[in-house]
Amino acid sequence: MASEQHLGSEQTVELFARYVIPNYGRYPVNMVRGEGSRIWDSEGNEYLDLFPGWGCNLLGHCPPAVVEAVQKQVASLIHVPNSWHMEIQGRWAQLLSDRSFGGQAFFCNSGAEANEAAIKLARLHGPENRYKIITFEGGFHGRTLATTTATAQPKYHEGLGPLIAGFQYARFGDLQHVAELIDEETCAIMIEPIQGEGGVRIPPEGFLQGLRQLADDNDLLLIFDEVQTGCGRTGKWFGYQNFDVTPDVMTLAKSIAGGIAGGAMLTTAEIAPSLRPGMHAATFGGNPIAAAAGVASLEMIERENLLENVPRLAQLFRSRFEDLQSRCSWIREVRVIGMMVGIELDLEGATVVQQCLDQKLLINCTQGNVIRLLPAMNLSDEQAERGCEILCGVLESLQVGSSSGSE
Ligand SMILES: *Cc1c(COP(=O)(O)O)cnc(C)c1O
Repeated sequence: MASEQHLGSEQTVELFARYVIPNYGRYPVNMVRGEGSRIWDSEGNEYLDLFPGWGCNLLGHCPPAVVEAVQKQVASLIHVPNSWHMEIQGRWAQLLSDRSFGGQAFFCNSGAEANEAAIKLARLHGPENRYKIITFEGGFHGRTLATTTATAQPKYHEGLGPLIAGFQYARFGDLQHVAELIDEETCAIMIEPIQGEGGVRIPPEGFLQGLRQLADDNDLLLIFDEVQTGCGRTGKWFGYQNFDVTPDVMTLAKSIAGGIAGGAMLTTAEIAPSLRPGMHAATFGGNPIAAAAGVASLEMIERENLLENVPRLAQLFRSRFEDLQSRCSWIREVRVIGMMVGIELDLEGATVVQQCLDQKLLINCTQGNVIRLLPAMNLSDEQAERGCEILCGVLESLQVGSSSGSE
């Protein structure tokens, strides 16, 4: 560690400017090391990270159990194609199945891929003329062409047309609208049980159960995109378990493997055969390294009783930010469910993110005006308090009207 040499942030930015496609807005900081909810840049600055890994690092940076499992696995077998069996992939599927609705898994490498698998499954399942899938305004399902189309928000579509046929967008929370969109060609309803990129939007009471009923009545698959809400994020193993409803298909990625790239689609043993042999594949899907990391992270959550941390931390965030809201008219709404926190503002949030960064606190802003935290479930109370203190200080000092808003 002591002998590690890093380029400075400025030089790294130059390297990117020359060789990396600039399709992301990146902060001019070169991150080099992480531990739990702390991360360090190449200048030695330490940051408190309340948005670790964009939701992928639900166990914080470099969780020791995952690091150890990966190191062990990488020394014995790195990759085996899916033309063979490998115990570790089977065990990963078993752990996910046992904690959800008892189905079977298809493994891939990302959220978009998991949703692609679900879209193909929905079209393959049931009568041949059915292909339409209903998704929701404000949703987010990934960046492949099909999952971009599944994502209703127009900003993701600009310049990409023609999009994939067959997606219809319903208003989030509006059962009547969903019912109106269903016709003989509809095969599925696809939804995030809690919208993530859309701004931590929690569905109204009874909405997901209503979708379950509509799916049952019309013989549709109910697909839950749990890429962001799954694997412990909400304090339950899977987001849907907060709402007393069960999907037919569930997709996972982000935190599924303790920060290692991985994804999965789960469905019931009755529906699974519709993904017929030869109809879908992912070369690296369920590879031994991801599987070892996935197994290790699920076991770590259990061994360290991390699900039990979540309601306590959620309550801490809720009380700090609701308290602040009572003093700040520019805070429109505070939404907290497990380790998902959204603070909707009446003004642009970009300056809030920058001011927090200046104070070495990492957060996110989505939809332009929703401050979002996706903290690690093993965040300490002390870290949570410190993060709240910095963020509340920044939010409280905002002046309505003087926001250099860029609507
Ligand atoms: C991040 C995300 C995706 C896309 O996952 P990728 O791994 O970036 O392809 C899909 N759905 C939801 C709900 C997400 O949060």
